[in-house]
Amino acid sequence: VVDERVTAKVKTSTIINPWNGRPYSQGFHEILEKRKTLPVWHQKHEFLKALKENQTLILVGDTGSGKTTQIPQFVLEAVELESCDRTKKYMVGCTQPRRMAAMSVSRRVAEEMDVAIGEEVGYSIRFEDVSSTKTVLKYLTDGMLLREAMTDPLLERYKVIILDEAHERTLATDVLFGLLKEVLKNRSDLKLVVMSATLEAEKFQGYFSGAPLMEVPGRLHPVDIFYTQEPERDYLEAAIRTVVQIHLSEPPGDILVFLTGEEEIEDACRKITKEFGNMGDRPVGPVKVIPLYSTLPPAMQQKIFEPAPPPVTEGGPPGRKIVISTNIAETSLTIDGIVYVIDPGFAKQKLYNPRVRVESLLVSPISKASANQRSGRAGRTQPGKCFRLYTETSYNDLEPQTRPEIERSNLTNTFLTLKKLGIDDLVHFDFMDPPAPETLMRALEELNYLGALDDEGNLTKLGEIMSEFPLDPQMAKMLVVSPEFNCSNEILSVSAMLSVPNCFVRPREAQKAADEAKARFGHIDGDHLTLLNVYHAYKQNNEDPSWYYDNFVNHRALKSADNVRQQLARIMARLNLKLVSTDFNSRDYYINIRKAMLAGYFMQVAHWERTKGHYLTVKDNQVVHLHPSNCLDHKPEWVFYNEFVLTTRKFIRTVTCIRSEWIVDIAPHYYDLENFPSCEDSEAIRVLKKLYRKREKDKVESKSRR
Ligand code: ADP
Ligand code: MG
Repeated sequence: VVDERVTAKVKTSTIINPWNGRPYSQGFHEILEKRKTLPVWHQKHEFLKALKENQTLILVGDTGSGKTTQIPQFVLEAVELESCDRTKKYMVGCTQPRRMAAMSVSRRVAEEMDVAIGEEVGYSIRFEDVSSTKTVLKYLTDGMLLREAMTDPLLERYKVIILDEAHERTLATDVLFGLLKEVLKNRSDLKLVVMSATLEAEKFQGYFSGAPLMEVPGRLHPVDIFYTQEPERDYLEAAIRTVVQIHLSEPPGDILVFLTGEEEIEDACRKITKEFGNMGDRPVGPVKVIPLYSTLPPAMQQKIFEPAPPPVTEGGPPGRKIVISTNIAETSLTIDGIVYVIDPGFAKQKLYNPRVRVESLLVSPISKASANQRSGRAGRTQPGKCFRLYTETSYNDLEPQTRPEIERSNLTNTFLTLKKLGIDDLVHFDFMDPPAPETLMRALEELNYLGALDDEGNLTKLGEIMSEFPLDPQMAKMLVVSPEFNCSNEILSVSAMLSVPNCFVRPREAQKAADEAKARFGHIDGDHLTLLNVYHAYKQNNEDPSWYYDNFVNHRALKSADNVRQQLARIMARLNLKLVSTDFNSRDYYINIRKAMLAGYFMQVAHWERTKGHYLTVKDNQVVHLHPSNCLDHKPEWVFYNEFVLTTRKFIRTVTCIRSEWIVDIAPHYYDLENFPSCEDSEAIRVLKKLYRKREKDKVESKSRR
């Protein structure tokens, strides 16, 4: 009898999933066998032992060794075994710098654990929480963990926190380093695992006071590296040429091309598909060209894991998968089967100039470390080849490491978060690499101008409320003050639209029609109001599928804006901020909206300098141009803008026209001319001076009348 019971138990344990009590599906064991071949599995016991004996652990391993997908599952097993009190929560959290990685990896792990995504395994990214009370393993962006810390300062819902992709040194991960160091002191039961793909181990070890380091040897095959003889004038064209050459002359194996952004990637995909369509009678194997960038819908992202197409005829030329990706494929996502890598040597990188307070994304040369990560992607399953579209001399001139984001970012938002977390002395916060003093001062100054910090640097009531919104401080400010301008409903819609990817579609073959469609939504006073028009039109027409097509707007972007709006409205309600509107027929309807927006964005104002024929940003004196996407039919004297875009020229994008009186009324402290940089000869200053003089005169006159 006993024997039977034992066998029954053994049998059930292999067919019943302990996580959800359901029988395992067919695929489970198949995937398990694959998982067991990943390099980290050879060190499972060693890892668990080290985890048991230490509070902090550093794990370094090549991309694709199984860190992101396997380690959290190992940790989970250990935590579960140790926990005697099953009623208590024991969540494991694993951070990812990129939203898309958090989504993709959690889906994969849910599949590996054979549970439904959002149940035992979930993810949380800004405006999208796919987790539940059942969740024991959560992948989340580093930014989201920071936000969680605002309401749960000791991160008590977690037993183990894994900071993944630490080598990326994003701003949020760097802040988490410092924060977690403090939390660990206060919570002896919490453990921290720091995972990285590159070996800056000494630096990490030094920072985490000698935490032990574990290395997972990858199973990299040799990669031959080829440089160009001459610098390439057009790397996009060169990349496409290289793809074609590889496909026509190299043995089977998939291709990975690194480009810088959505537009470039879509352009390349189109051109490559066209090239192979024009091969005439040449026997060419079939290709599957797949784009990969962050704003791609999840179903499309999944395509990178599909196999290459089979040959058209048996024994015919082999098929190939060609993935064209941003640097998300550098370390965040591993694509199996890549044998050829094409690396033009560029990436879009954040840059910040504190002197003129401009943060922008700029296509710039990558570091040596990045170049080596990229080439490494070619040698995961067999020997590979990497084609660097630059000379060997250029490679030698690259910076050894990418600079941490904290040295290249505006810190206003981060500082507001840290203040809310109760960290008063930002100057002495334990950063792994401290930010530049000028950047630090700028951030404090901006928060002070916004009214989030008082003159002593303490968080104000307003700052407290602003920090509740997962938005930039300017946007948060405009939302918080919008009830005073009687337009919080509309400001909510504008904020939501500004928080999602561009909703206007402009297909190459129908640019004119698309521009005409966009113009129909256009508002003469600017792009923010145009966005509001689109949102309103969407609310009236969202049931009609042809409406999106006819009007060249992106369904997904609008749906997502609607969702973001709901979430922001919930925060407003929680904070007792009233949802109100000005009567649409009132003259003040749009005026109120524009004023409320200015109350947030008064530090981003530009003035049309008539004699010079350009816009100049006020106070920072940058010559800027309206971005070609703007919908204005004239050049208003004063505008505020949402974004500074640096390409071949300096552009301001998403602009709305305002009046000079509003500037002085709404932000007198900022536009106080005594605070302006001296000896300045901009027309803006003259106009403002005149305005101030007129005001003085009016004041005197009205007094004498009284
Ligand atoms: P690391 O974090 O060390 O770079 P990962 O854990 O991300 O490694 O990847 C381990 C393996 O899991 C890789 O072979 C990768 O291709 C595979 N993998 C990850 N996500 C998916 C997915 N969505 N579908 C199929 N395979 C996946
Ligand atoms: Mg990883």
